[in-house]
Amino acid sequence: MFDSPHRRFNPLTGEWVLVSPHRAKRPWLGQVEKTPLENLPQYDPNCYLCPRNERAGGFRNPDYESTFAFDNDFSALLPDETPAHASDHPLLASVSERGLCRVVCFSPRHDLTLPELDNVSIENVIATWTEQSVELCTKDFIQYVQVFENKGAMMGCSNPHPHSQVWANEHIPNEPARELELQKKYFAENNRTLLSDYLAEEHKRGERILFTNDHFTALVPYWAVWPFEVILIAHGNATRLNDLASAEVSALAKIMKQVTTRYDNLFEISFPYSMGFHQAPFDDQPHHEWTLHAHFYPPLLRSATVRKFMVGYEMLAMPQRDITPESAAERLRSLSDIHYKHEAH
Ligand SMILES: [Zn+2]
Ligand SMILES: [Zn+2]
Repeated sequence: MFDSPHRRFNPLTGEWVLVSPHRAKRPWLGQVEKTPLENLPQYDPNCYLCPRNERAGGFRNPDYESTFAFDNDFSALLPDETPAHASDHPLLASVSERGLCRVVCFSPRHDLTLPELDNVSIENVIATWTEQSVELCTKDFIQYVQVFENKGAMMGCSNPHPHSQVWANEHIPNEPARELELQKKYFAENNRTLLSDYLAEEHKRGERILFTNDHFTALVPYWAVWPFEVILIAHGNATRLNDLASAEVSALAKIMKQVTTRYDNLFEISFPYSMGFHQAPFDDQPHHEWTLHAHFYPPLLRSATVRKFMVGYEMLAMPQRDITPESAAERLRSLSDIHYKHEAH
């Protein structure tokens, strides 16, 4: 019987799907948001992420003052050894999947999203993601650590208190596995990393660059699918968050604040997105082919309510977009670097 986390293989695409049958009914605060992340209190007595409040299973949050990380009470992955799934047919292949899921609250404040935090607080968030990645990969069965944030009810975020997640997996998931294969191939052929060459070419052309500093560049990728998709690329040799020196962490915090501030200013709302870091696998290999980077995938297209849907042709054939990545970059660059909530009207 399938009652523990496992991955199933799709022989038509060669990709895997993670199945978590044990996952109980999760709490959902997202639906009650009328305007996502607007006019929230600094502290919400009913929020299970605010300091001192009670969570599922009777846990109580500490009176935390900076970031706060804990095991997800409704984890999609479990660290326990589970019996191997016996497949009785080659087209019905599955394997058990061990892992851990953590939640990282950005700060005790229920109302402060990433662009509203100061640089030092964002550096603390990055430091916590780094600590969590390093700690989780010390378990010998972990091969990949995915740091990500779902922001806004539109992205399925179940609680408006700004937070992110860190999922550690026994196997390398689809997206990083494909990036690994293609970055390896490029490195073998060119002896340079794919993303460093790509970044050099983008800097020559300039039209898709949003912001750059000594250690990171933010741009709308040439191949962007989502209307205002952004990629952050490290300039140096960092392959994982724990490779970053303190000046690089500080540069990353600055550029994340720049990107998320422009996002909010675009439609003058708290801009929903899914974002996450692609680090090299934690599999004891050197990964000279890998460049640390982060993807931002925001769904909004024309206003606070008009979003892009990935339906029909996108689901069945391939992604399609109307506005070009160049015009999206121009639009984002044209916005103020002062958050609209703080702009004097
Ligand atoms: Zn809260
Ligand atoms: Zn990536």
